Amino acid sequence: MPFVQFAARLAERQQAGLLRSRRQIDSPQGAHIQIGGRQLINFCSNDYLGLANHPAVVQAAQQGAAEWGVGSGAAHLLAGHFGPHQALEDRLAKFVGMPAALGFSTGYMANLAVITALVGRGDAVFADKLNHASLNDAVALSRADFKRYPHQDMAGLERMLAASTAPRKLIVADAVFSMDGDIAPVAALLALAEQYDAWLFLDDAHGFGVLGDGRGTLAEFGISAPRIIYMATLGKAAGVSGAFVAGEQVMCDWLLNTAHSYVYTTAMPPLLSCAMQASLDLIAAEPWRRTRLAGHIAAFRTGLQDCCELLDSNTAIQLILLPDNDSTIRIAKALFERGIWAGAIRPPTVPTPRLRITLSAAHSDDDVAALMGELKALL
Ligand SMILES: *Cc1c(COP(=O)(O)O)cnc(C)c1O
Repeated sequence: MPFVQFAARLAERQQAGLLRSRRQIDSPQGAHIQIGGRQLINFCSNDYLGLANHPAVVQAAQQGAAEWGVGSGAAHLLAGHFGPHQALEDRLAKFVGMPAALGFSTGYMANLAVITALVGRGDAVFADKLNHASLNDAVALSRADFKRYPHQDMAGLERMLAASTAPRKLIVADAVFSMDGDIAPVAALLALAEQYDAWLFLDDAHGFGVLGDGRGTLAEFGISAPRIIYMATLGKAAGVSGAFVAGEQVMCDWLLNTAHSYVYTTAMPPLLSCAMQASLDLIAAEPWRRTRLAGHIAAFRTGLQDCCELLDSNTAIQLILLPDNDSTIRIAKALFERGIWAGAIRPPTVPTPRLRITLSAAHSDDDVAALMGELKALL
């Protein structure tokens, strides 16, 4: 029984209502999905614009497969860097208004790349306490000193920066916080980065495609600066897969030369870069998707503000705070039985239990009304 210790620990998690499991979905990603022979309205995905199964994106992927095959067959620095990869990087850099961009297979790997390539032993990373787990893992791997400031606390961050004598300082924050839905104060972060000669790394996994006319959180605030390193993922609002890092050319060149999660991994299939270019066309050309999403967000918040505790979020990520794990699971289950899928998010993923609802342009007004009706009945 070589793993018996884990059986006991899994049992403990089950007792505490913290055991994780997966649900098998039997239809493509979308506002309406099929699970176990039942149709559900899906408020659990990050497909904020409804592009994951868009016919033009699917067709670009099929055409990409016909033209370029499936596997890339090698890492980018060997024989794995194809025309569609380069074309996508060029377009993404232009789209977000940065000098250069570098593509990655996942956001997790892009975050590992940036942090481990830019800082090391003796340097310091200043990170929001509620940053995504991939950013925290990256800091551990970098061996830099890890200073975590309370969520969105600029005074706390400034005290840490002022006290630091590290030769290289990197401020790291989610641009849109994945489990809270709020937006980082980008201008204040940049001002502190400039005052204390730090770099600023923003993870815009949930802002790209949605904020700033689709160009992301920096565009939303009209902010750019050479010391900013920008990362966005392509598997959420963009509906495809992968990620990119954008910023100064020399910074991207450094990552390309030294980041292990860039160098020592097979390039993503070029067909996905083809699909992503079709997605980028739609992100740019169809602002109605963002308008519709904004309408859903407003309707949801107005409809529910008096009957539950909503976190302060104007993004697609909406949170209803609940008193404990059990009630969170109970309400998520009851919603599920009524044909509505929302996420029950519990510690250790977040400090306090909550129902996480992600809205999408793919939802109809009726979908959102159905969600609100059931929530009002249950809360
Ligand atoms: C999803 C996510 C990631 C990881 O991106 P993947 O492409 O899914 O690996 C990184 N940061 C944040 C904030 C995320 O929400």
